[in-house]
Amino acid sequence: MWLRELAELAHGVAHLLYPPACLICDSSETEPLRHGLCSNCLRSITADAAEVCPWCASTVGPHTDVTRGCVVCLPHSFGFDGAYRLGPYEGRLREAILRIKNAAGEPLAEMLGRVVVDQMATELKAAGVDLVVPVPLHWRRRWSRGYNQAAAIGREVAAGLGIDFRPGWLRRIRGVMQYAQPSASARRENIRGAFRVSHRASFASRVVLLVDDVMTTGSTLSEAARVLRVAGAAKVIAAVLARA
Ligand SMILES: [Zn+2]
Ligand SMILES: [Zn+2]
Repeated sequence: MWLRELAELAHGVAHLLYPPACLICDSSETEPLRHGLCSNCLRSITADAAEVCPWCASTVGPHTDVTRGCVVCLPHSFGFDGAYRLGPYEGRLREAILRIKNAAGEPLAEMLGRVVVDQMATELKAAGVDLVVPVPLHWRRRWSRGYNQAAAIGREVAAGLGIDFRPGWLRRIRGVMQYAQPSASARRENIRGAFRVSHRASFASRVVLLVDDVMTTGSTLSEAARVLRVAGAAKVIAAVLARA
């Protein structure tokens, strides 16, 4: 027991000597951090000034009619029923996402999940989401990375919204081929059949929030959502940190 107390004491002393640094830019400011982030970084990743398509979270031009979708999602009919993002894949948000691509970034991934709750809770509750499922990594990828960043984000989102978190209910049964410059159609073909629902899962009538760090072409989230719909989900809403 005394060992733990000693560790806590050491932690407290370290805090005094080295004030905690921002998890994105490493600056240690005198102002208190919120969600582990300095005010510049937090402002930068939450100030999404663009008009956004509610169906696929793409940036659209001002005054675009997105009642039925945008130029990105209209031709594709994605498997999800709506999508939210913190912002576009650029600047500090892009830096943050690059940092969570290895195990040392796990605390940042969790904090970004809390930022998602701060920013999207009202919309997500209105959409009726009652279950969070992160986009799974193939076990080999998770093993080499040390963790699944989507799961770390999703865990915090579920906790913040007070709803179920079921990372084991969707499995990735095969990895994807890595292309240097995959075209959208190559990615769509590539991802087909990559996911399987666990036999313990029960998606019937659930409104699922599917969480990932970044949406690029949308083909991964779309295929995962399609599999959840086939398994009985009433609706699948996607939430990502950034939309490329
Ligand atoms: Zn910062
Ligand atoms: Zn769209």
